[in-house]
Amino acid sequence: NSGMSDSKNLRIKLVLLGDSGVGKSCIVLRFVRGQFDPSSKVTVGASFLSQTIALQDSTTVKFEIWDTAGQERYASLAPLYYRGASAAVIVYDITCMETFHKAQFWVKELQKHGNPNIVMALVGNKADLEESRSVGHDVAQAYADANGMFLIETSAKTADNINQLFEEIAKRLPRTTP
Ligand code: GDP
Ligand code: MG
Repeated sequence: NSGMSDSKNLRIKLVLLGDSGVGKSCIVLRFVRGQFDPSSKVTVGASFLSQTIALQDSTTVKFEIWDTAGQERYASLAPLYYRGASAAVIVYDITCMETFHKAQFWVKELQKHGNPNIVMALVGNKADLEESRSVGHDVAQAYADANGMFLIETSAKTADNINQLFEEIAKRLPRTTP
């Protein structure tokens, strides 16, 4: 199935979308640096980071990760931000229903204006706060299924499912050369 080439190196733009405070920057820092800093209350202006992962079929995927520096607070985030993105990570906080509704807004925005082949991940972050959960897993799963995306619940705090999130995106990327 891998054709003539024995391996492929993909380089893809990945954007993070979601309400302020859901943990987008913490997810990125956990994935790229293996760290979680509970004291950072506001996004530090690290707006671009990259990380490469290797898949079992020897494909490598270099994620060029675009994190917002707080622009998500404004009504319209410039489409410039997600233009050309091959993957989008749309994050909500499982303890806050309002952030799940905001995630649905971003999904619609990408369906209207994003790359038609974009791989979308719906991410319920702060899964370590199970006792405060207000967004049911089944509700989110049904929404993800209905919108052609996959759902994963993560914790940037404990690192739960963070690598799995990016591995799953990598597996779903179209393998043809653009
Ligand atoms: P952003 O605005 O979406 O980039 O959110 P941040 O990454 O800045 O995180 C917002 C707040 O949520 C910070 O106080 C983080 O410490 C906290 N946070 C982020 N991820 C988690 C998580 O998985 N679990 C818990 N308990 N707190 C988290
Ligand atoms: Mg941030």
